[in-house]
Amino acid sequence: MELYNLTDKKKYEVNIPSGTGEFYSTCPACSHNRKPINQKKRCFSWNRTKSIGHCYHCGNSFVEFKEREQLNTSTPKPLNPSTPKPINYINPKYLKLSLGLASNFGTFLKSIFDEEELKQILEDYQLGMTKDNSVIYWYIDKENRIRSGKIMQYNPKTGKRVKSGVSWVHSQLKKQGMISEDWKFTRCLFGEHLLTKYPNRNVFLVEGEKTAIICSIYFPDSIWLATGGSEMLSENVCHSLRGRKVLVIADSDKMIEWEEKIKDINHNLNLNLKPYEKFNILLSKEQKEKGWDLADYFLNG
Ligand SMILES: [Zn+2]
Repeated sequence: MELYNLTDKKKYEVNIPSGTGEFYSTCPACSHNRKPINQKKRCFSWNRTKSIGHCYHCGNSFVEFKEREQLNTSTPKPLNPSTPKPINYINPKYLKLSLGLASNFGTFLKSIFDEEELKQILEDYQLGMTKDNSVIYWYIDKENRIRSGKIMQYNPKTGKRVKSGVSWVHSQLKKQGMISEDWKFTRCLFGEHLLTKYPNRNVFLVEGEKTAIICSIYFPDSIWLATGGSEMLSENVCHSLRGRKVLVIADSDKMIEWEEKIKDINHNLNLNLKPYEKFNILLSKEQKEKGWDLADYFLNG
């Protein structure tokens, strides 16, 4: 079949067997440019129902090629309609300057965990702090590049959040004129860089950064990642989970919603995410109603 690449406007010949559902293959646009070891990776997916394709490596979108007149009138909407924009990163010097556990959240962690456990937390999650003792959750991607840092404030005694709103490192740097106004934040999963650091570990995905960090101490043989919010579970941040076994633990008030999302994500990205429901059994009705997460369970249960 002749495919038209909506991104670079070129034509490519791709052999797509007839049938239904998603077809995965190597990408005609980028595979030959990749390292030899990655050239056979099936980064290209073709949706046979909608006749549109997308590459998760180079971000290009494809439709079936038709003559120009037809193309103009009947181009199907691509999976990812926007041309992929380059991702903006934060200079690592800001992370290095911020590292430490003197934040209020760090003080809370110190009241629960011993030195060896704290060392592991700091090393893995690269926790930072601000002048007013907020914690910085650095969002570092699989290529070890810094997407941004989420700044949050906690009560140092209870470890509960102080409802003063969330701020981001890139917003602060913009205010100070350290990065340009058009610098754009592209989300990744919190802890995503650990997928590279620990290539063979099973993966747990939870909602909150705090939950991921605390669970990583209780279950050190697994990687603990967080979406950073119940609305933040999306296809865009899940590409990095390709090829990994992932158990997803929703906060108790979001289980049904997340299960639906997981179904879509697995189908569209060919991933292996599984909702983990056993945790649900541990919680009482009252705890569920309060929207408890795993961290609440381990710290208060
Ligand atoms: Zn590609």
